[in-house]
Amino acid sequence: MSTVKEGLKLEKNKSEELAIFGGQPAFAEVLHVGRPNIGNRAKFAERVNDILDRRWLTNGGRYVREFEQRIAELVGVEHCVAMCNATVALEIAIRALGLTGEVIVPSFTFVATAHALQWQEITPVFCDVAPRNHTIDPRKIEQMITPRTTGIVAVHLWGGACDIDALSEIAARRGLKLLFDSAHAFGASYQGKMIGGFGDAEVFSFHATKFLNSLEGGAVVTNNAELAQKIRLMKNFGFSFYDHTEYVGTNGKMNEISAAMGLCNLESMNDFIDVNRRNYRQYREELSGLKGVSLLPYTEDERCNFQYVVLEIDTGETLITRDQLMEILHKENVLARRYFYPGCHQMEPYRSYFPHAGVLLPETEKLTRRVLCLPNGTAVGKEEIERICQILRFTLANKVEISEKLGP
Ligand SMILES: *Cc1c(COP(=O)(O)O)cnc(C)c1O
Repeated sequence: MSTVKEGLKLEKNKSEELAIFGGQPAFAEVLHVGRPNIGNRAKFAERVNDILDRRWLTNGGRYVREFEQRIAELVGVEHCVAMCNATVALEIAIRALGLTGEVIVPSFTFVATAHALQWQEITPVFCDVAPRNHTIDPRKIEQMITPRTTGIVAVHLWGGACDIDALSEIAARRGLKLLFDSAHAFGASYQGKMIGGFGDAEVFSFHATKFLNSLEGGAVVTNNAELAQKIRLMKNFGFSFYDHTEYVGTNGKMNEISAAMGLCNLESMNDFIDVNRRNYRQYREELSGLKGVSLLPYTEDERCNFQYVVLEIDTGETLITRDQLMEILHKENVLARRYFYPGCHQMEPYRSYFPHAGVLLPETEKLTRRVLCLPNGTAVGKEEIERICQILRFTLANKVEISEKLGP
């Protein structure tokens, strides 16, 4: 845990005390947004030793199978195929579902969602998001459908769900496949039912920075047995048995050490949620009433992992821009992140392919200028959050002076 610097009080409304103007940084060590949550390391070591003793490192080992089973039970789906990461899991799910031509995706997502399509020469067609929860706006999907459209890849963001009912209705009515990138949403529910069982399939990420990690890792979950079987073979070169392939495949296997880590973290998952929720509530309390800064609310009547603390900065009120605020925090060693700046449509190759995509993405473009994510997870606690909020409150209490000092 980082040590909070002694001495700096930020009480006298002296902006020189901010690190951006030459003061001491508030934290001696950098605070990250996605510092990994780590479960019981003794149990992890025990499992690693067992893996080494038995010399079974990958290819359908017992820990991967156990991890898959535990996830399927927890999420309430019939099939879970664990993989080396969520990007490969998305690629394989997209191929197994037979998606081709054009697929509708939000631009306001991590670039892997779009890349997983483009990698296999499927065109991602970027759809705008709803300002309410930052996920794909079902009302804007139908205008993007063309004769080449084969599916929708929707993304559950920040641990909250997309408008699943509306998306499912459109997909069914228009004969489109529906895949969810659920990288953020492990442990979350929608109308009381766990995320993972919706659409044709859903993909989780267990990357180090995600709520639940397996070092690197991902999984496809589905209730479609045929699809699951296809995905299971595709992630192992298409082998159905020795020396025999059914179709083209790749190597997407999860290894045993990753599964061991995933299992340890699953066992500590409720503790992670407790810490995240407590942190989130502290941020909410300490930032309440701060004009121009709004914290994206979690619907607390659903299950949620509370991993993301998402601010929206309204520069009209704060005078200081989101980027300036980010810079102020970075100088204090708080590595706040502007996810998902600048939006997939502004990144290559999409920027060159679709130079005018932004015309149809006003809410996305607005969010890419407003969103700032703050550190959460088991690596941050009460004192850190207190200090981060103190910096934000101090900055906004002195916004006129500070914005003049920073310039445009
Ligand atoms: C992290 C993330 C991915 C990629 O996951 P990896 O396991 O790192 O490949 C995909 N989509 C979203 C929305 C993500 O946040």
